[in-house]
Amino acid sequence: MAFTIDLAGKTAVITGSNSGIGLGIAWELARAGADVVLNSFTDRDEDHAIAKEIADETGVKARYIQADMSKGDQCRRLIADAGACDILVNNAGIQHVAAIPDFPAEKWDAIIAINLSSAFHTTAAALPMMRDAGWGRVINIASAHGLTASPYKSAYIAAKHGIVGLTKTTALETAEEPITANTICPGYVLTPLVDAQIPDTMKEYDMSREDVIKNVLLKRQPSKEFATVEQLGGTTAFLCSDAAAQITGTAISVDGGWTAL
Ligand code: NAD
Repeated sequence: MAFTIDLAGKTAVITGSNSGIGLGIAWELARAGADVVLNSFTDRDEDHAIAKEIADETGVKARYIQADMSKGDQCRRLIADAGACDILVNNAGIQHVAAIPDFPAEKWDAIIAINLSSAFHTTAAALPMMRDAGWGRVINIASAHGLTASPYKSAYIAAKHGIVGLTKTTALETAEEPITANTICPGYVLTPLVDAQIPDTMKEYDMSREDVIKNVLLKRQPSKEFATVEQLGGTTAFLCSDAAAQITGTAISVDGGWTAL
């Protein structure tokens, strides 16, 4: 039997998908035939235009639903409004960098809410729908920082380690069902989230943009290349395939060798 990736008839909900990795995943799942529900906390014409572009280009149904992933009730409402959720990709995330004594408490709370608690709420709302449908995939986007740590990113690292743990529990609670739960742990990917960190780092180290990329961002990424949103989309699509039906509870690194160090 040759394995193919055909997601026709499935609906994928991807949180935080009007930019970066989430958008790359939405495109790749749509190319594999899944209907997609995009999300972020804004409600601009351009958000809905992205969904239309995906629908026009791939022929699947694509919608944009506004919901703030820092609020538990809105996380659950997103899944209810989607109407179906065969594939849940918990991707929404933010970052803040500061030493622990200086770390603003409200930033800690926001990072834990958006990067970790949102996945609990969406998973709680989606699992009954997956059980009714008799098939499901939960894919949580953590980070190399879900498996290792760096200074000054306490909330992000706590949230990302937390999501690796939440994924394992989700996998065990669904182990005897045709539902899998896995984490993808990207190394650095050049998205708006990472791009926004470059100017401060240039100032801090008095370095050029190129030097920050090579000597700071990619310092721990042995390949010395960014992972791409297309590669993360492809890894997500693979986890939705029949070939991956027995892959559950794992953390898959897409990090150019970072966590092999
Ligand atoms: P990004 O800033 O391009 O995307 C983040 C997404 O989350 C955006 O769509 C944003 O609108 C959304 N978002 C933020 N707050 C939200 C909220 N309250 N409600 C709903 N949506 C919200 O960044 P990205 O790099 O694409 O990050 C996506 C995920 O990948 C994050 O979880 C991030 O931690 C993870 N990640 C990124 C990298 C990287 O190098 N870029 C590496 C490892 C992990």
